[in-house]
Amino acid sequence: MPPPSVEDRPSHDTISIIYPSDFKIIVTRNYLYSKDRTYKKATFNVDYATLINSTQFFRGWLDRNRFSMKPKNVLELDGSNIVTFEIILRKLHNTLEQMSVGAVSLADIWDLPYLCQTCHVDCKELTQWFKTWCAHQKDKVEPGKELSYYHEVLIPSCVYNDAEIFAQSTRAVVYQNTGHITARIPNEYRKPLAAPLMRHLNAARDRLCEIVHQELSGRITHILQRPLSPCCERTVFELLRELQRIQAWPYDNCFTNHGIDELLNRLAHFDADRMHKYIDPATNSQFNCVMCSMDWKTIVESTATRVAGYFDGLCLDCALRTDENPPPGGQYDKKDYWDCLESHDRYDRKCRIQHGEPSWYFSFMGEQRELQATPAHGVGLPYRLSNQC
Ligand SMILES: [Zn+2]
Ligand SMILES: [Zn+2]
Ligand SMILES: [Zn+2]
Repeated sequence: MPPPSVEDRPSHDTISIIYPSDFKIIVTRNYLYSKDRTYKKATFNVDYATLINSTQFFRGWLDRNRFSMKPKNVLELDGSNIVTFEIILRKLHNTLEQMSVGAVSLADIWDLPYLCQTCHVDCKELTQWFKTWCAHQKDKVEPGKELSYYHEVLIPSCVYNDAEIFAQSTRAVVYQNTGHITARIPNEYRKPLAAPLMRHLNAARDRLCEIVHQELSGRITHILQRPLSPCCERTVFELLRELQRIQAWPYDNCFTNHGIDELLNRLAHFDADRMHKYIDPATNSQFNCVMCSMDWKTIVESTATRVAGYFDGLCLDCALRTDENPPPGGQYDKKDYWDCLESHDRYDRKCRIQHGEPSWYFSFMGEQRELQATPAHGVGLPYRLSNQC
């Protein structure tokens, strides 16, 4: 069946990009591109002088139009996406804030950078607008469904150069995802940076699991490695029993099926008073060796606090500094990245977000062997990415 003609399916909007206007652009959305299999047409009222002074792309376009036989104040073209075209025109006319971000879908957010490229508009100038769009999306999210929002904005926040949302979404995914983290990218797009990003997020997540093991299971190992007193069997058993009661044990089960945040929620219910003490039959009173006298409540709490505060999300600036295939305009500044090790003070110098060493470490996008060659650094040594890759 042939596609319906434009006349049969009239769906024509007039959109005032600026007022007064002395030029019209009529965009017809191509039948092939439209998901609902309808034509859609829009007339944009624009300012000729603004467009001709905007980018090389629009200048060339308007120039070609001048020499055509068509009316001089109208330009007709086929477009794939009317919404993203409106965003570009408004950006150039400085009227973007007059357009509701509610009309922009996630698909449009993925489309826009490609149209930006075609029209020679720098996508990085849309960072603030992207932030507004994200805030609107987040408001719509039902309580408990935040994770899917973070998955949706993770790669786009990188494309739109929004360091803040990139850090928020990468952190949220690491702490909230159940099981292995994978990228959410629509089929029609390819993002080469997605694979290393996901690898690093999974490495960060594994590192958090490892901290829990080190801090909690490590104590049990300590007890078992010493000459055992009669109290020790009871302590080990009672600790595991209490962790089992709050469904934190076995940890791996919890990581895989419920995520890090949920494990931390469960650990908050840990009650050391429920651990039965060993009673020495000779004296009929409590007896605990040094190891068994440890303050388990504080140990569990400080483990949870350490895990919760460990990872501030990935840092877009650290990532860009070490990206060996930097985006146009970006620069590869490895020296700046490694300099942090010498100064030993802050790992977020010259970064837009505040972060600690783990974020710095996991944001490294350069070659893996460079990381392997690094001398061991400081307390809280982050997990080596090389173990994962
Ligand atoms: Zn003991
Ligand atoms: Zn038994
Ligand atoms: Zn940074």
